[in-house]
Amino acid sequence: MNLPRPRSGLRDTTPYAAPQLDVPVRLNTNECPYPLPAGFGEDLAAAVRDLPLNRYPDREAMALRTALAERTGHPVAGISVANGSNEVIQLLLLAYGGPGRRVLLFQPTYGLHAGLAWITRTEPVTVRLEPPFALTPDSVASALAMAPDVIFVCSPNNPTGQARPLEVVEELARASAALVIVDEAYIEFGGTSAAALLPRYPNIVVVRTFSKAFALAGGRIGYCLASPQVVDDLSRVRLPYHLSALAQAAGLTALRYAEEAAWILDAVRTERDRILRVLGGIDGVTAFASDANFVMFGLSRVAGEVWRALLERGVLVRDVSAAVPGCLRVTAGRPDEVDAFLFALGDVLGDNDGGPT
Ligand code: PMP
Repeated sequence: MNLPRPRSGLRDTTPYAAPQLDVPVRLNTNECPYPLPAGFGEDLAAAVRDLPLNRYPDREAMALRTALAERTGHPVAGISVANGSNEVIQLLLLAYGGPGRRVLLFQPTYGLHAGLAWITRTEPVTVRLEPPFALTPDSVASALAMAPDVIFVCSPNNPTGQARPLEVVEELARASAALVIVDEAYIEFGGTSAAALLPRYPNIVVVRTFSKAFALAGGRIGYCLASPQVVDDLSRVRLPYHLSALAQAAGLTALRYAEEAAWILDAVRTERDRILRVLGGIDGVTAFASDANFVMFGLSRVAGEVWRALLERGVLVRDVSAAVPGCLRVTAGRPDEVDAFLFALGDVLGDNDGGPT
């Protein structure tokens, strides 16, 4: 039997493994806890009925990109779309990373940045941040000293939660010719977008997603705002017809509901701040300030054990202790989901006093 041999090191990697479990309260993947309004589904069904699916989709996704240009004020020629922001990032690394090139990661950060570096054979170099995980001038200087070709700034940062100051992004883009990828998957929940820097810095790319604030994780749509040159470069590494007509229709329809669904952002921020407030009052728990739709918190108990005990109580959160020792991360869900999480955590830690949260 001739077994095929995969690329060297492939089987030492770990597939993306956020558990997808059928439990009552799922707060582990930072999705939006509310669906888009009912009209969205009806409009999308109508749009899909009219799609000529025997034909390939618009390769340039012009309708969706034009709608994004109207929404963001960024020119269409500087906008690219793909299957989730993960794919946008992969395309950026295919175009600007690769063998012999280096990508700088401020750790701890979103695990897929390193994962995609490996997949695209880009050498990862790391600047490690210490609690409370601020991106300081010192860490910027260390990053620049490594002469990277690509730099990731995640703002707000996953899993730690803080938005990054614009001055930091600007300094990285000013002091190097690296492509500075600002991953703004959570920017609608807090922080200042680096989009304002784009006209002055053609080496900045702002990456965003429909998966969080747009309540469309299942649609798999992400986009970036960049210089037209970067967008042109991306068109050379993406697959032909990479974004299906179905996804394009979903994104276009979702954008029409953005204003109507804007209350969701406030609702999610309110729950995030409630989580921060309550966790801040529990002995043995350290909650980290967050500008996103999640909160990371450290425990004096073994994080993996607390994670399992929460799961036994029907609450799924994210165990991020491999990246940040002792820490879990919880998504700001609906009020009833947050109630369930806080009650379960109090129960696990023996801290419930039966009072209001
Ligand atoms: N960036 C960050 C920081 C994320 O946390 C995520 C999803 N967890 C993504 C990008 C990818 O999102 P998507 O591919 O759904 O757009």
